[in-house]
Amino acid sequence: MTKKPVIGLLGGGQLGRMLCESAGPLGYQIAILDEENSPAKQANHNDLHVTGSFKDPAKIKLLASRSDVLTVEIEHVDTEVLEEIATVGVDVPDAQGAMTKKKVPVHPDWKTIRLIQDKYQQKEYLGQKGIPIAEQMAIADAGADRKASLQEAATKYGFPYMLKGAKGSYDGRGNFKVRSAEDFDTAVQQMGDQPLYAERWVPFEMELAVMVVRTEDDAGKLQKVMPYPVVETIHEDSVCTKVFFPPRNVSDDMQTRAQKIACDVVSHLWGRGVFAVEMFLLKDGQVIVNEIAPRPHNSGHYTIEAVPQMSQYKAQLCAIMNDFPDDFEVVPRVPSALMVNILGGAKPTSHDDLAELSRKLTNRSMDIYLHDYGKESKPGRKIGHITAIGYSSISKLVEMAQPLIASADKIRA
Ligand code: ATP
Ligand code: MG
Ligand code: MG
Repeated sequence: MTKKPVIGLLGGGQLGRMLCESAGPLGYQIAILDEENSPAKQANHNDLHVTGSFKDPAKIKLLASRSDVLTVEIEHVDTEVLEEIATVGVDVPDAQGAMTKKKVPVHPDWKTIRLIQDKYQQKEYLGQKGIPIAEQMAIADAGADRKASLQEAATKYGFPYMLKGAKGSYDGRGNFKVRSAEDFDTAVQQMGDQPLYAERWVPFEMELAVMVVRTEDDAGKLQKVMPYPVVETIHEDSVCTKVFFPPRNVSDDMQTRAQKIACDVVSHLWGRGVFAVEMFLLKDGQVIVNEIAPRPHNSGHYTIEAVPQMSQYKAQLCAIMNDFPDDFEVVPRVPSALMVNILGGAKPTSHDDLAELSRKLTNRSMDIYLHDYGKESKPGRKIGHITAIGYSSISKLVEMAQPLIASADKIRA
């Protein structure tokens, strides 16, 4: 066999772990940059891994020197060094042992990662491209009069509104719902000195998400922007807890519209890979884009079992390697799927009942798959997920999977 291509991956969490699970059978090697024994490294042993932080430029360069292409499982990475690696190159020894520069492509493009990692800039850009977004305004820097700025947002948007950290946020950890002027002091204190912005509160009926594959040829010319089906996502306290495929009681027309908006968003980005587009669906049928993730996403986990011929992980690998089948169209193998996140509870054993239940519930109309990420349990932390695939409607599946949902909700209570 010819030498297996090496994909350098920044970050070794659960997304990286599931990417590795897909990469093995496809004949791709993954070199992971993260701490020893991170979830992805547990699932993928080789001598290419780098131990350290995916924010450390020297470690990123070492990873690049061992890789044919770089990708990310998290957007909070150093894009200056990614730009340097893609445009100038990293030092590697040539056949005579002299140092030479090797350019390593980065997918998605470092420009995309840079734009997306600043959620305020990301939405400014989308707004300029005519994508519907919630109104937003930057909040004065720490040190300046933040409270006056918070008051200005209240005057513009009324209460409540959402205050968000522009960078480094995930699982709602950078979000603060401002309910009244009495919250200003707590907000200023809790959010610290990070860059902030305020967003108009969106009274959505439902949250939707669409995974989109973006492919480019070797010359960097856009080839394909292809959507997965629309899913309904449930967030509780800003963290995703459940995903339903298809969304419940959303018309086909509406789903097609959401897919079109998601594709429109991704067509304005750069590079190859899969992207998640998170959206709000309003009562009057309006769709507003919340944010983009430039990588596989929690809302796409269900594709492992529902679209096994091309899960979001397989799509990420094929896209970045420019190996995506030309005439492929996403056709799920089952009519319905439900994904339930396992979030750590008060005790390290809080989720044991849920895991146990997932082993028992499978029946002739529903199959259940447990994904344990090999992570230490902490309250609220995503430590695994369960996917149920159904052979009839989503409402029937939800009915059958009710014990799973109840058990997951109990951990959070
Ligand atoms: P993720 O883990 O998805 O990256 P995040 O930390 O980037 O999360 P957001 O996606 O901005 O956070 O927000 C998390 C959730 O908070 C949303 O899915 C939604 O439920 C709620 N939310 C965010 N913005 C608004 C808003 N403007 N109005 C109402 N609810 C909102
Ligand atoms: Mg986010
Ligand atoms: Mg989000």
